[in-house]
Amino acid sequence: MFTLDTARFDNTYARLPEMFYRRVKPTPLPAPYLVSFNEKAAELIGLDAEKADKPEFVEYFTGNKLLPGSEPISAIYAGHQFGTFVPQLGDGRAILLGEAVNEKGERFDIQLKGAGLTPFSRMGDGRAVLRSTIREYLCSEAMHALGIPTTRALCITGSNEPVYRETVETAAVLTRLAPTHVRFGSFELFYYRGQYEQVRELADYVIREFYSQFNGAEDKYLQFLREVIKRTAKLIAQWQSVGFAHGVMNTDNMSIIGLTIDYGPFGFLDEFDADFICNHSDYGGRYAFDQQPNVALWNLYKFAQTLIPLIKPEGAEAVLGEYQAIFTERLVELMRAKLGLEKQELEDPELIVALLEILQLSNVDYTVFFRRLGDFKTDANEKNDLLQGMFIDPKSFDQWAKIYRARLAKENISDAERREKMMRVNPKFVLRNHIAQSAIEKAQKGDYTEVNTLLEILQKPFDEKPEMERFAAPPTVGSKRVAVSCSS
Ligand code: AMP
Ligand code: MG
Repeated sequence: MFTLDTARFDNTYARLPEMFYRRVKPTPLPAPYLVSFNEKAAELIGLDAEKADKPEFVEYFTGNKLLPGSEPISAIYAGHQFGTFVPQLGDGRAILLGEAVNEKGERFDIQLKGAGLTPFSRMGDGRAVLRSTIREYLCSEAMHALGIPTTRALCITGSNEPVYRETVETAAVLTRLAPTHVRFGSFELFYYRGQYEQVRELADYVIREFYSQFNGAEDKYLQFLREVIKRTAKLIAQWQSVGFAHGVMNTDNMSIIGLTIDYGPFGFLDEFDADFICNHSDYGGRYAFDQQPNVALWNLYKFAQTLIPLIKPEGAEAVLGEYQAIFTERLVELMRAKLGLEKQELEDPELIVALLEILQLSNVDYTVFFRRLGDFKTDANEKNDLLQGMFIDPKSFDQWAKIYRARLAKENISDAERREKMMRVNPKFVLRNHIAQSAIEKAQKGDYTEVNTLLEILQKPFDEKPEMERFAAPPTVGSKRVAVSCSS
């Protein structure tokens, strides 16, 4: 059991040479209070949920008091931001307290995001605002429940301390959990400084701790790269299949273990739009929804480059060349499941592309469509009015439905059975921006009930909850496209 006074920490990152981080101290916040606590994440570190009610809990997870055994550090890294190399970044407002060990011996970084200035804060204030912590908190749990690898979130604490963004907001601290927060950019920092020994040391560390299957292998660095490529390709396929866009796919926001990390101006698609840009500071659309698979590969090239002192360029080229096929295969597999298809037919990719095209042309809500598709009637004499009614151009749906019906005929499954399966892969609830915004506005007035309600709903995104229908609803015209910026 992880109790606050006898927490077991095993701080492997802090055992690395000091070049990899700086020792720091969280800056206390005045009169902190608990905004939300996530029992499911607490289970990961074996933390007793009742502890959240104790006054010292808030002190510890705001950074006002240090957990015994913690060795707070901020990690150093670099990164390509919007295509431009920035030689030094680092945790500008995140402080790693240490790695908690659970009963199974699994380790989790306990990281406070928004805990004050660090040597890497640059022009920033080291703080996070309540709005952005709620977004990350809810979205990371939503992603986890959708089966998508992600950092987790233990709790949010808040304080009335003002924080200046586009407007005056208040400070909050998000406690993040993950096996590691090492990024592609962690490698880039040393590579571009020509510190190849440190590149090797970091690679050895990451392989030892997270890719131990390659420990001792002669070509372990190449195997490691190959696995990072595989995990990243599969991660992006999952993002695409649920309609998730990361707003800032810089290399410093790319996890070395293939997690979704650093939720800023992210977005879930409402109506399907391949060109969807969720970050309003992304003027060129570098991270537009349909660009993300290519951007991930570009980022992997940047990461692979850092391993060139350790592997042959031909080897790196070869494994990078595997990305596209892994991504496509995984995406098709996920989309097949969304369509309720079990068999693999050559025409499936075409069916998927044709569907996305008509969804786009008729501005159809992505999540609602797939949820309703579970009710598709294969009998040509029966109508699929509810689905057809979602299209500005109903004929386009009719045409597609004809092909879909023919394709379904190749499956040996009843409508009812297929429906059952589809309801388990097509979520009812995703964290739509306008839904998050409504919970945030209430929280900013001190009412956290909606944050907690949403947490509960998003942790079971496939369950029908008639009384919660409003949280599944697409935005009305007025609430569409809540602009989200980098100012988190
Ligand atoms: P992001 O792309 O949002 O993950 O952040 C890019 C870099 O800016 C990271 O190194 C962050 O630590 C840093 N950063 C973002 N916001 C702040 C802030 N309010 N204070 C200090 N550093 C920040
Ligand atoms: Mg970041």
